[in-house]
Amino acid sequence: MEHNVPLPAHTWPTLEPGWVWLCGAGPGDPGLLTMHAVNALRQADVVIYDALVQETILEWAPQAEHIYAGKRGGKPSAKQRDISLRLVDLARAGKRVLRLKGGDPFVFGRGGEEAQTLVQHDVPVRIIPGISAGIGGLAYAGIPVTHRDVNQSVTFVTGHDQSGNATGSLNWQAISDGSQVLVIYMGMKHIAHITSELLRAGRQPSEPVAVVTSATTDDQRVLETTLGSIVDDITAAGMSPPAIVCVGQSVLMRQVLDWQSQAAGIAPRNLDPLGRGRPAESA
Ligand code: SAH
Repeated sequence: MEHNVPLPAHTWPTLEPGWVWLCGAGPGDPGLLTMHAVNALRQADVVIYDALVQETILEWAPQAEHIYAGKRGGKPSAKQRDISLRLVDLARAGKRVLRLKGGDPFVFGRGGEEAQTLVQHDVPVRIIPGISAGIGGLAYAGIPVTHRDVNQSVTFVTGHDQSGNATGSLNWQAISDGSQVLVIYMGMKHIAHITSELLRAGRQPSEPVAVVTSATTDDQRVLETTLGSIVDDITAAGMSPPAIVCVGQSVLMRQVLDWQSQAAGIAPRNLDPLGRGRPAESA
C-alpha cells in the first residue's frame, strides 16, 4: 500500500472579513490542532491568542498580526470584557479575526462569554472546538478518562472561581459521590483545599492521583501520587501550572499505557494494573 497519499479534496470554509472564528488550539502539541484550526490560521488577518496557546502554533499564521491577550486566573473580570470588545472592534474594522484559545474554547475557557458578546454586537461567529487538556492532556500521560472497569462517568471541575478563590459554591460531596473519576482544571493553587474536601467527602487517602503539567508539550511532566500525598509531592517535585489533576483508579492505567515512555524504549511497569486480566475482545 502506498504511504503519504494526498488528503482527499475538501471544501474548507472561508474566514470572511468581519467575522470572528473562536477556535480551540488544543493543549499544546501543534499536531493536536484540528484541520479547521489550521484552515483558520492560514486565512486570518489577526490572531488573538491566550497564554496557554503555544507560540509555535502562531508560525502557522505568518501572514497575520499576532496579538497576545494573555490572562491567567485571578485577574479582574473587566479584562475579559476588554478582550471581547477588542474582538468586536477588529471585526467591525473588517478584519478576518481568529480568536485562539487553549484546549477547547467552551471548556473552562470563557469562550461562551466571548461568543455571547460578539453575537450581542451582531458580529458573526464560528466556533471551532479543540482538544481539551482534561482529555487530550491525560491521554498523552497514558490515562484514559473513562475505562469500563473504572467509571461510567467523569466529572470536569474547575479548581477556582472567577475571582481566583477556591470554588466555595462547589458541592464536593456530590462531586465525590457522583463520579469515580475527577478531572480538575486550574487545581494547583487550591490543591490543599480540594484534597481535604475530597477526603472529607469520603475519598480514600490511598486513591491514585496524577498531576500532568504542560501536557502534550516538550515540557510535559507527570506526577503519580495519591490523594493523601499529593500536596507534599507537588511541592517536592516542583510542579507548576498549567496542570491537570486526575483523581481515580484510571490513573493506574498509566502503568500499562504510558506510551511516550514506551516509545522511548521503557517497558510497561504492569500489564494489568487494575487486576482484571485481559480486556474482553467483544461485548
Ligand atoms: N479551554 C482549556 C482550559 C482553559 S482553563 C481546555 O479546554 O483545555 C486553564 C486550565 O486548563 C489550566 O489551569 C490547566 O488546568 C488546564 N490546561 C490547559 N492546557 C494545559 C496543558 N497543556 N497541560 C496541563 N493543563 C492544561
